[in-house]
Amino acid sequence: MHPTDRLQGETPERLAERFGPALTLPEARRIIAHVVQRGGDSLLGVQQLRTTARKAVEAELPIGQVSVIERRASQEDPFIKFAVGLPDGAVVETVRIPLERAGRFVVCVSSQVGCAMGCTFCATGTMGLSRNLEAWEIVEQVRLVATELRASGEGRVHGVVFQGMGEPLHNLDNVLQALEMISNPCGLAVDARNVTICTVGIVPGIDRLASMRTRIRLGISVTSAQTMLRRSLVPMEGKYPIREVVEAAKRFHERSGRLVMFAYALMGGVNTTDAEAEALAELLKLMPARLSLIDWNPIAGLPYRPPTDSERDRFHDRLAGMGVPVIRRYSGGKDIGAACGQLATASTRKSRPRPDRPGAPDSVASDATPGKSSDTA
Ligand code: SF4
Repeated sequence: MHPTDRLQGETPERLAERFGPALTLPEARRIIAHVVQRGGDSLLGVQQLRTTARKAVEAELPIGQVSVIERRASQEDPFIKFAVGLPDGAVVETVRIPLERAGRFVVCVSSQVGCAMGCTFCATGTMGLSRNLEAWEIVEQVRLVATELRASGEGRVHGVVFQGMGEPLHNLDNVLQALEMISNPCGLAVDARNVTICTVGIVPGIDRLASMRTRIRLGISVTSAQTMLRRSLVPMEGKYPIREVVEAAKRFHERSGRLVMFAYALMGGVNTTDAEAEALAELLKLMPARLSLIDWNPIAGLPYRPPTDSERDRFHDRLAGMGVPVIRRYSGGKDIGAACGQLATASTRKSRPRPDRPGAPDSVASDATPGKSSDTA
């Protein structure tokens, strides 16, 4: 079964527009608050909803169901990674990331099943693209973490980062639709300023975001500032060279006023050379930027390694010495398959989705740009 429209993908405004006189806007707001905010699995519990309105919505837009196939809590740090089963049997990853401020969490979501970008250092890149996620499937990843946090009393979802499986700008319509619900006060009520879309650099997608004058943040995965090296690591370099990507990011910054985050996954002996540091410093002179360095997380079968301490320090110090605003970010969850795509691959192999609702307690077990592995877009 391919998942199509589900209730969680529709904001109250879209819902009311879709059903016309059959559903008022206040009714639509009550429906979405009941399902998305309170986790209701039926419309029977919605207060002040006419029977005719309820039946009209039930007939056309069922409540979508995903399942938690696996829930892995890190023993080293408070990261939790979920393998989320979708109705067609596909599995994607969602990560719950604690921020320094107690009780606040960021959810790292997937936007596609697999990825078409083919980055050679990424587990998801080895899968190829199966399909785009529907808007409601993206919303559900945030909702399952929000539901679990509420049930445990641990806190709330403060931000969302599109840095899981997939290239969000390659599924931008559905990502933007999901964002409407994620930031809607009747939905998940996450401030759009705390949402980050991370990309390897799809220039038309960046320009589309720029034209929207959105409040979200943009993150760019650089990987290398040298054309030939980047081309060997990020095939999209052939279509959208990093210099054009940075120029598009500059347009985004100028229109939105939002600072662009540049992420750089350090692979020892590959992109940690002095020549690379110099090329990177030169590239980032094109616009106001902040750069995060993060160790690449090992993935079995891939011919890369994390940097040594001295490689990391030297690279950082050279950049800082050339005036680049650079920080080192901690990559958490190493013991739970921190690199994007590892848990989903393993879970797809060993399990099928269960029909239970997300966030069920018996399921198996930053700022808003968190310290998760940046070996994803
Ligand atoms: S790094 Fe991001 S864009 Fe590249 S293959 Fe992995 S998920 Fe796709």
